[in-house]
Amino acid sequence: MHIRVDLMKHELPMFHTENDLLQNLVVTSPKSARKKFRESIFESWEWRCMYCDEALTEITATIDHIKPKVKGGHSTRNNMGLCCSKCNSSKGSQLVFDYYNKSHPCYSEARASKIKEWIDQHLVVWSLTPG
Ligand SMILES: [Zn+2]
Repeated sequence: MHIRVDLMKHELPMFHTENDLLQNLVVTSPKSARKKFRESIFESWEWRCMYCDEALTEITATIDHIKPKVKGGHSTRNNMGLCCSKCNSSKGSQLVFDYYNKSHPCYSEARASKIKEWIDQHLVVWSLTPG
């Protein structure tokens, strides 16, 4: 039995959850795998807050669970966004578009649709093929 990995769309090879990544790493330490996972998310958001577009650094960047953990959101890539601590704390445990809509002072259609695409992404399809 071989495991085939089909990459969807134009994305780089990427694991869907932190655990997928950890399970597939032999050389690197869990700590460094976590760091890589976070950095890959930050890079995808171009180191800018997903809500207000502020430029962020390793120090100021925070991970936002797009669907809050308390509402059943998971730590999967498509549920993890990059935002500044100010937006992260004002969003709190609200659902993303309850927080980020036309009444938000920094609302932009372009960023709202990027968030929608992000949530819908399917990067890697794992399939088992007899071999
Ligand atoms: Zn922000």
